[in-house]
Amino acid sequence: MDRVYNFSAGPSMLPLEVLEKAQAELLCYGDSGMSVMEMSHRTPEFEEILHSAEDSLRKLMNIPSNYKVLFLQGGASTQFAAVPMNLLSEHKCADYIVSGQFSKKASMEAKKYGDIAIAASSAGATPTFSTIPETKRADFRPDADYVHICFNNTIYGTKFHYIPDTGNIPLVADMSSCIVSEPVDVSKFGLIYAGAQKNVAPAGVTIVIVRNDLIGNARPDTPAMLDYKLMAENDSMYNTPPCWCIYMAKLVFDWILSIGGLEEMKRRNEKKASLLYDYLDSQTYYAAPVDKKCRSMMNVVFVTGDAELDKKFAKEAAEAGLKNLKGHRSVGGMRASIYNAMPYEGVEKLVEFMKEFALKNPKIGE
Ligand code: PMP
Repeated sequence: MDRVYNFSAGPSMLPLEVLEKAQAELLCYGDSGMSVMEMSHRTPEFEEILHSAEDSLRKLMNIPSNYKVLFLQGGASTQFAAVPMNLLSEHKCADYIVSGQFSKKASMEAKKYGDIAIAASSAGATPTFSTIPETKRADFRPDADYVHICFNNTIYGTKFHYIPDTGNIPLVADMSSCIVSEPVDVSKFGLIYAGAQKNVAPAGVTIVIVRNDLIGNARPDTPAMLDYKLMAENDSMYNTPPCWCIYMAKLVFDWILSIGGLEEMKRRNEKKASLLYDYLDSQTYYAAPVDKKCRSMMNVVFVTGDAELDKKFAKEAAEAGLKNLKGHRSVGGMRASIYNAMPYEGVEKLVEFMKEFALKNPKIGE
């Protein structure tokens, strides 16, 4: 069977070149005589993979030297707890901007560990979470230990178009669905975390980029596995790390570096997203229910306005090799996740399909 265009929100497509390289090295990595899947993490070969994954990510994101890079397990959801357990150190209070389900979940988890306030929310927008709240420094409590945001909202297809000004308060960002899709100024953040299964690797590794001064203040009952200090001291190898996923992440980072880094990645992602959004803006059959200035470059949500037609669309698109376009169960409609690995041709095919579908399925009254 031919490979399809997979618009899944995650786990999602990986670059073909990366899959081919992994395939070529699957049985025998270098001159190790074994697969990375079979390799002990306590070998020079694996240590080299881990360090080179970190070096490549540092280069790619231009990560300053006063930040640690950790490759952890448990998904982004585990960070919903790890962040407050490590960072609620001084005043035991933190402020959250709630712009979707994941930031809401993160805030609920944090409430178990301290005084959490919702500094701003777009839950009340119509439709809910279809925009990103605007904030100013005065919206945050001066004694907050950190401010938390979700930079790209995978479910609703929105993205922060600005970095909130939090003054001296460390800003923590969940970048699960936008990491390495474009350049970001890491120095503006105290901590960035991301589940890897969208832009970076198969599911199973979580990246944490954390400023040194935020490490070492975990509450005493923090499980060892969630303590950034222990993880940093042990080079992400306190226990067995997700070796295969780290290897795949390294291949993906090297692939992005090879095409020209994050500037080029951004150019390609913008080109894909513009193709789809420009089409959506040029017609009336489909609607894009998101505030234009907050549109995500990674997750594009659109609807026909008729639940039955939406269902038909997702089914027929899948039959045409355009898979996983059904929107999230809480939003409905369609969602095209067009992460780094989605080729431009995939989006071209999608737009062609959308045009044909609209012609073949006129709406009553149109
Ligand atoms: N944050 C965001 C923005 C996400 O998109 C997701 C998952 N899709 C999560 C957190 C939860 O990630 P995980 O499944 O790795 O726990």
